[in-house]
Amino acid sequence: GSRGPEKEIPFAKPNSTTRVLAVASGKGGVGKSSITVNLAAAMAASGLKVGLIDADIYGHSVPRMLGVTDRPTKVEDMIMPPVAHDIKVISVGMFKAGNSPVIWRGPMLDRALYQFLTDVYWGDLDVLLLDLPPGTGDIAISVAQRIPTAEILVVTTPQLAAAEVAERAGSIAAQTHQHIVGVIENMAWLPCPHCDERIAVFGEGGGQAVADALGRTLGYEVPLLGQVPIDMRLRAGGDEGKPVVLSDPDAPVSAELRRIAAGL
Ligand code: ADP
Repeated sequence: GSRGPEKEIPFAKPNSTTRVLAVASGKGGVGKSSITVNLAAAMAASGLKVGLIDADIYGHSVPRMLGVTDRPTKVEDMIMPPVAHDIKVISVGMFKAGNSPVIWRGPMLDRALYQFLTDVYWGDLDVLLLDLPPGTGDIAISVAQRIPTAEILVVTTPQLAAAEVAERAGSIAAQTHQHIVGVIENMAWLPCPHCDERIAVFGEGGGQAVADALGRTLGYEVPLLGQVPIDMRLRAGGDEGKPVVLSDPDAPVSAELRRIAAGL
């Protein structure tokens, strides 16, 4: 049978008041999901209405990081997203049977994204964050086509090798004409536990290098929005399902994440 006409994506309407921020990275393991959940939590704590789509098909670690164990429920033909720390959350992981690996092909992924955008009951959101898979995959193109007004945040580590791949992920935005809000450098340093020194575990300069390179490609200034230190409390917060900005709001890592969130 025919599926009928496509539903409109509310966030893509010209009069939409929801800001869509897609978080991208060149490769996995740079802390993209950790940064995304903490920005979401900081924004929700500041009173904004926040939604989060975990579109990272390989990682989909967002539910665990937010302590979400509930599954979405169906009310009539809408999907009700679970809520954690005042954030409405939907993840590709919520739609798999058990822990079986799923091979997501481009069209399936696009379909899933479209469903998340049209069939999930988001209500009035101020911000919708999207945790993208690492790299320059199909989903980035899908997002650009489905929500042309979506803005991009790029997460990288300070390593110059990582910076190069992050830059490639970001430069997709030049082709899709999406706005890059800025770059966040994660794991920027490890505070020495015995002195005031910062240990450059993953090198230095990657965040600024990505920001400069993207700025040259795009023809406007792409700012380095912040530098998030390595902190065990951030990792522990993710493992325990309570983002560090909520579990340890006074830690320097939380202050930096809140500052970045407030400046977005
Ligand atoms: P990605 O989404 O880029 O694959 P994750 O957010 O899953 O990366 O982070 C990878 C691992 O590194 C996780 O175990 C996370 O807790 C840890 N991690 C990320 N950022 C930091 C940080 N600033 N300090 C300490 N651990 C971090």
